[in-house]
Amino acid sequence: TRVDAAKPGELKALLAEHGFRFKKQLGQNFLIDERVLQRIVDAAEVGASDGAFEIGPGAGVVTQRLAARVHRVLCVEKDERLGAVLARTLAGWDNVEVRFADVLELDLQDVWHRFDDCARVAVVANLPYYVTTPILFHVLESGVRFDTMVIMVQREVADRLSAQPGGKAYGALTLAVQYRATVEPVCRVGPGAFLPPPNVESTVVRLRRRPRPAVEVRDERLFFRVIRAAFATRRKTLLNALTGQLSLQREACLAALAEAGIDPGRRGETLSLEEFARLAEAVAVVPA
Ligand code: SAM
Repeated sequence: TRVDAAKPGELKALLAEHGFRFKKQLGQNFLIDERVLQRIVDAAEVGASDGAFEIGPGAGVVTQRLAARVHRVLCVEKDERLGAVLARTLAGWDNVEVRFADVLELDLQDVWHRFDDCARVAVVANLPYYVTTPILFHVLESGVRFDTMVIMVQREVADRLSAQPGGKAYGALTLAVQYRATVEPVCRVGPGAFLPPPNVESTVVRLRRRPRPAVEVRDERLFFRVIRAAFATRRKTLLNALTGQLSLQREACLAALAEAGIDPGRRGETLSLEEFARLAEAVAVVPA
């Protein structure tokens, strides 16, 4: 019989039956709130001819609901102890494949061929909070084709992902994500929605991948180096931050800033994506 892992009673009984103990270091907080589960699956914007890539299925609550909706679900779970549990919750779904691996060590290009027969692909993850940023970058930088990404993150991370220039939450992570995707909050989730409850507030966020990056840059590595330099020392002016971080002479920095039309007294956190793109172009051509 298939177990509905979103029912706390059924989930607890199932985990007990398999002698499963939650591992804090794997960020194991399983969702038990049906309303939140529905919001996640709806936000993924996928249907019968589409695919879903799920990171960290846990006991398979999100997986069950994705499987009911899409053509194919591919999951990657680091904790092999969940094998027996997933076998129970996913029994009968022949459109689900589970791989036991660390998603950060998985070659995504290599597994993505599983979605060749899918029209759209959604990445769905209730992420272990300590690896949110590396996992986000791993997916974004792998270059795999996905349409939406629905992720449960710690509230502070959600604020950083959707931040606008000028605020405290705005930083290198904001720019790296907004360069490649649009970001929208889906819903806020309190600790009571999980078993066991985490110590933090969470937010479900949807990314829609842009067909082309938000701004045109010729040298992406330099673009991100300039961004990191600008945020490395937040209290410094742009001129001082760039001079210190980019091993450029003060005059060269001033020339680049002038070329980009940016006041050298501004702080990095006030620059938009467009301004960073202009600045990176200018840095590329000034003599060092
Ligand atoms: N999706 C389930 C849910 O909503 O109930 C479980 C979410 S739980 C917050 C995170 C899951 O990710 C855990 O099952 C954990 O074992 C798994 N995990 C942690 N690090 C991982 C990694 N690097 N790669 C793949 N899975 C990972």
